[in-house]
Amino acid sequence: MTPGAEGAAGFAPALIRWQRHSGRHGLPWQGTRDPYRVWLSEIMLQQTQVSTVLGYYDRFLQRFPDVHSLAAAPDDDVMALWSGLGYYSRARNLHRCAQTVVSEHGGVFPSSARALETLPGIGASTAAAIAAFCHGERISIVDGNVRRVLSRLLAFDGDQSQSASQRALWDMAQALLPTEPTAADMVAYTQGLMDLGASICSRTRPGCERCPVQSLCLAHSAGTVERYPVKTRKLLRRHESWWLLIWRCASPDGQKVWLERRPARGIWASLYCTPVFSSEALASESPRLAGLVVHELPPIVHSLTHRELRLHPLLVDAPSDRAMTAHADGQWVLLDRLDQVGLPTPLRSLLPQLPA
Ligand code: SF4
Repeated sequence: MTPGAEGAAGFAPALIRWQRHSGRHGLPWQGTRDPYRVWLSEIMLQQTQVSTVLGYYDRFLQRFPDVHSLAAAPDDDVMALWSGLGYYSRARNLHRCAQTVVSEHGGVFPSSARALETLPGIGASTAAAIAAFCHGERISIVDGNVRRVLSRLLAFDGDQSQSASQRALWDMAQALLPTEPTAADMVAYTQGLMDLGASICSRTRPGCERCPVQSLCLAHSAGTVERYPVKTRKLLRRHESWWLLIWRCASPDGQKVWLERRPARGIWASLYCTPVFSSEALASESPRLAGLVVHELPPIVHSLTHRELRLHPLLVDAPSDRAMTAHADGQWVLLDRLDQVGLPTPLRSLLPQLPA
């Protein structure tokens, strides 16, 4: 179905009014038309809560105040600042994107959504958000939250795990845009879509009683809200166990741990990690372990998008700080300097709290 004329005409004004009056204001990336800042916030906010992003966003901007400083930074500095935010391909693409903007666009982000979408790591919805926020382009964002809101609003039963249905919903989203909006209208409208999905039309228990577009919502009037969005393909998570061999040694400057850079592809790509083994037997095979006591620490369960990792940390106190493996990109890192390397989230919590 396509949005009815009445719903299409009423949706945008109602959403804009509500956003100006009751939406989120004062977030550090609001009130700017600087594409660098908007882009950075949009990438950080993908799959990540606002409350988590706030600290990272400020630290990132202090270290890299503009696209030139980010483009010129070493990989490790970018990954270290991103460490803990997860979905690390975002950080790698962010860095590549900054380098492309500098080398191919003279340090200026393109202004249209269509051109922005050609840059590394910028998908259609992120491109639309940057173009709408910074240039008032009349284009709709359609991320996961917006897809949920609009499929309920329009009682759209196309399967959102199919790209044809996603495209159909995108067309409907375009039809709902305000007619002849000012740039300020597009800012309020785009932010309104985000705010509605984040704070009212939530995945479970949406707050329909306080929704500014309740009178236009087809799923609400039919009492079928929980049926949307329709998604037949469910996410399947594979279970895997990893053994993490934590070599620790004392030095005059403090305790150090041995970390190796992960391969450029796969889980925790390019981050620093302890040596990883797929079984306890393999972890115990190292001749360097002979005569040393191995402490088993409590396992940690860590969920990734497609995998659930059960991590088994094994702690060993090394007699010296010689290289622990022939790994080309391994190094001893002082425990109080861990913030200078990019670490996977579970190691960021685990390593500073190792038992004495
Ligand atoms: Fe979502 Fe309820 Fe509002 Fe409909 S009325 S858009 S289901 S919050």
